[in-house]
Amino acid sequence: MRMLVTGAAGFIGSNFVRWRLATSDDEIVILDALTYAGNLSTIRDLLDGGRVSFVHGDICDRGAVLGAIEGCATVVHFAAESHVDRSIVGPDEFVRTNCLGTNVMCDVARQVGVERFLHVSTDEVYGSIAEGAFRETDPLGPRSPYSASKAGSDMIALAYRETHGLPVVVTRCSNNYGPWQYPEKVIPLFVTNLVDGRKVPLYGEGANIRDWLHVEDHCRGIGVVLADGGLGEVYNIGGGTELTNLDLTRLVLDGMGVGEDMIERVADRLGHDFRYAVDTAKLEKLGWKPQVDFADGLSATIHWYRANEWWWRPLKGA
Ligand code: NAD
Repeated sequence: MRMLVTGAAGFIGSNFVRWRLATSDDEIVILDALTYAGNLSTIRDLLDGGRVSFVHGDICDRGAVLGAIEGCATVVHFAAESHVDRSIVGPDEFVRTNCLGTNVMCDVARQVGVERFLHVSTDEVYGSIAEGAFRETDPLGPRSPYSASKAGSDMIALAYRETHGLPVVVTRCSNNYGPWQYPEKVIPLFVTNLVDGRKVPLYGEGANIRDWLHVEDHCRGIGVVLADGGLGEVYNIGGGTELTNLDLTRLVLDGMGVGEDMIERVADRLGHDFRYAVDTAKLEKLGWKPQVDFADGLSATIHWYRANEWWWRPLKGA
């Protein structure tokens, strides 16, 4: 099968392509605009392998999408602006890429008649929850420009299912960690700072809670939804590993062999959501469950950043 994967020069998309190449015979077309978050160095080895081709283009550009989608039966749509802090200082690009871009992707996919369109979303669209976990049927309550633009993109994708019969499925995943994540996100930021002997910035009291999932488990979840997900359905994907930011920080410090004196407290993020949590029973009914233990996954991730300075140092410098 020929598959179009958008945003695969970024963190999760590139991991998805690696996983897919290893577990299927698919040929993959990557469409990516190579923003600051997308880098050819992340996928260079994949392009050399013969089964992956690359189109440098913007998902808001109908012509670029039409060129890339030719002959593809399936679309997995990762491309997005993804960093909450950037959305607070520069929201326009989030609305453009995440909402307009998803609309163009859906409209072109409808026009050419793909067999399946998987829209990758986030648990952040539900907003914050003090106790319990959000189910797929719960109303959305996004609270940052990032999550609001992702919620908009979910609604756009699902509307194409209703209006045009586009074979859409949506996944909403919790925080991912693993290799090839841009060093602005918390785990790679902290590890790479500590490699350089620099302190790690912790928001406020560090009491905010996030659920962590290894990126390979996310990729496996997307694979299950691609194969068996119901059209027009939404599937939560989560790790069941809830940690306060302070606990996560302590685990990273421990893994790097340094103490809490390396923490630098910084002013809290504006409108910082307290806790995200998703109920994953619906996806588990399809046979998925996370396989990577958090302690093992974190240790492997720290090891990866230590071993792959050639990849992250130029990005950190930028
Ligand atoms: P990322 O920022 O690492 O990568 C985004 C990729 O999209 C980059 O390669 C970038 O160049 C590309 N891109 C951005 N704008 C584009 C445009 N206009 N046209 C074409 N390409 C463009 O993001 P990520 O962390 O890999 O996230 C991928 C997807 O997964 C996003 O949709 C995000 O909302 C979602 N998600 C992420 C997480 C997480 O923890 N990182 C969790 C749940 C869901």
